[in-house]
Amino acid sequence: MVTTDVHARVAVRDDLRALAGYHSAQVDVDVRLNTNESPYPPPDSWRSELAAELANIDWHRYPDRNAAELRRAIAVWHGVEAAQVFAANGSNEVLQTVLLAYAGAGRTVATFEPTYQLHAHIARLTGATVVSGERAPDFRLDVSEIDRIVDACEPSVTFLCSPNNPTGLVEPRANVDRLLSTSAGLVVVDEAYAQFADWTALDLVEEAVPLAVVRTFSKTWSMAAARLGYLIAPSWVVAELDEVVLPYHLDAVTQLAGRLALRHIDEMGERVAHIVAERERVARNLGSLEVTVVPSGANFILFRALDRRGDAVWQGLVERGVLVRDCSSWRRLDGCLRVTIGTPDENDRFLAALADVLADAGGSAR
Ligand code: PMP
Repeated sequence: MVTTDVHARVAVRDDLRALAGYHSAQVDVDVRLNTNESPYPPPDSWRSELAAELANIDWHRYPDRNAAELRRAIAVWHGVEAAQVFAANGSNEVLQTVLLAYAGAGRTVATFEPTYQLHAHIARLTGATVVSGERAPDFRLDVSEIDRIVDACEPSVTFLCSPNNPTGLVEPRANVDRLLSTSAGLVVVDEAYAQFADWTALDLVEEAVPLAVVRTFSKTWSMAAARLGYLIAPSWVVAELDEVVLPYHLDAVTQLAGRLALRHIDEMGERVAHIVAERERVARNLGSLEVTVVPSGANFILFRALDRRGDAVWQGLVERGVLVRDCSSWRRLDGCLRVTIGTPDENDRFLAALADVLADAGGSAR
């Protein structure tokens, strides 16, 4: 057929053929605990402020290319200079911009697996070589492994993720310090979930330190629909990112939504505290079931069903109206599922469904 001929002639880059995308299975069920979003919408007052300010947008003009007011508001919040803030469409676009600027063909990017898959995926899209260090079986990262990777590969960019997705483990400060003292390249700490944890690498950011800390409005801020993420880094890193990113990439509504959200820091803090309390309750309850639980500093928990097939447990949960993330086919995560912390009611329904699946001794989950 003609279309097949055209398809064959207009070939996608050879190095992209081997790359699989990053997708979470979407199933229409009542309780959706698979993508680490906030279970709560943003505050009503934020919604009405946004609606009022939308009326003032100059729709015939491009948005502020520098997102200056937004960057200033983020900088004030974190006690850094506005020139140390870069904002983009979700932290994924932040990561992509970092990799376009600092990775690319002929360079190496290091990750420590298992971790957020998009670090390696986007790095490969830029044409970089990805080197994967290994975490221990309990998913902790040993400094000797950091040294091995840095010595062997001299990465231009090295990622840590704290708390780590999908394990939930908080990366000890010692590991960030070790990387900063040994690597000649840029160290990126992805802190998409840091507000749920008790430690952040933000305090380590300084002009003379090659460290970038990445954050998002998608989780704590209940704003996954807005697509807003940012990074705090030395101003010379931010200046390079500004050169690489597309002009006017961040639209006026997203800039506004983020700026207004920063007026509601206290409400966001209350949500985080509530979700952390629920996380601890869910973890305690999981502890009484036939699963092993990875300690989490995030808004999700990774667990492994003992003697069960992860995909069958996942299916059993779906049949009971609960969707979690099936990580069991991912390398190093045999039997593992990841559940996002939801409302107390959603969490109860998840726990009851899981207990039911695990009690189904003769069922398919064995
Ligand atoms: N980093 C990590 C570790 C994540 O888990 C996610 C979301 N799954 C992101 C970045 C991307 O988030 P967003 O693009 O919504 O800001």
